[in-house]
Amino acid sequence: MQIGLLGGGQLGRMMIQAAHRMGHTVVVLDPDPLGPAGQLADDHVVGDYRDAQALAVFASKARVFTTEFENVPAESLRFLSAHGATYPSADCVERAQDRLVEKAFIASAGVPVAPHWPVRSSEEALALPAQAFPGILKTARLGYDGKGQQTVLSAQEAERAFVEMGSVVCVLERRLMLASEVSVILARSAKGEVAVFPLAENIHRQGTLHTTTVPASVSPAVAERAQSWARGVAEAMNYMGVMCLEFFVLDSGELVANEMAPRPHNSGHYTIEACETSQFEQQVRICVGDSLGPTALRFPVRMTNLLGDHWFPKGPDGAAVEPDWKRMVKEGKAVLHLYGKSEPRPGRKMGHITERLD
Ligand code: ADP
Ligand code: MG
Repeated sequence: MQIGLLGGGQLGRMMIQAAHRMGHTVVVLDPDPLGPAGQLADDHVVGDYRDAQALAVFASKARVFTTEFENVPAESLRFLSAHGATYPSADCVERAQDRLVEKAFIASAGVPVAPHWPVRSSEEALALPAQAFPGILKTARLGYDGKGQQTVLSAQEAERAFVEMGSVVCVLERRLMLASEVSVILARSAKGEVAVFPLAENIHRQGTLHTTTVPASVSPAVAERAQSWARGVAEAMNYMGVMCLEFFVLDSGELVANEMAPRPHNSGHYTIEACETSQFEQQVRICVGDSLGPTALRFPVRMTNLLGDHWFPKGPDGAAVEPDWKRMVKEGKAVLHLYGKSEPRPGRKMGHITERLD
């Protein structure tokens, strides 16, 4: 069966690899002719996600559609839904694209979120109460890997940051003291069947995921609560597809939901080797109508992201040098994934390494 995939990045590439192992093909819609997913796609419509003509050609090539890219225009998914099922739906993707809408939805499902205030004008920034600080001002839309965020200590600083960020709609979140960060990846099928992956523990560097370790070092009660809350959010949304819910763990053991991703997630890459079914296989199963696979952990594992910085051992002014993989990837214990990006840049996600910890 052919699956239509919106987006051409590494998440799409890994979904295509899963689809191929399962005997399916994938057509990609993405503007980059040589992107990570486009390189492996069976068919590739090279075009913008909003290009009506490209969308029409793409729509004619599959009867089921999915996405790997969070900021795919909801309108495009809505257009595709007239030609086939879309997993996830345009409504779910749209909800996850705006931090204010997303937080309101998560809270309405009974899951706590960080104290936060909308900042839509300089006046609103200047009127922020003292208990909002220290805070993190985030653009409501289009932020990722810590981009579009600034720590602020006062209403005046928040106002300045708001203007610096282009006076776009923002949310001010109180900066919480985090004991750790965890995430739940789950799959939910069109029939409402749910498969939840083991809880993952995440370490970020400069706002970007650095490592994911499973099992997470939290109590079974905390792990269970995170998993059942993630499931609750998915059910409340009638979410169909693979999604991630990120949580903050506070010193008290309290859990606070951070954000959701309506797609497979970087913190779920460990599932490729370490779980009975990977997050990408689940995405394919949902698309083709197979029942979900088991998610049990096969061995303890750590995933480490490989940013472009590894290519610049002497600093970003020198020429890029391919890292010494033999030294970095422990034979028999670790697996290297490279995403086929031709140009390494500092901070750019180039690949990851999955390592068995047993
Ligand atoms: P992105 O969409 O870029 O992933 P997040 O909102 O997840 O943005 O923020 C990135 C990281 O910044 C988080 O994983 C966490 O480490 C830190 N962070 C974000 N919000 C808060 C907060 N309210 N309190 C403390 N740390 C935060
Ligand atoms: Mg995040």
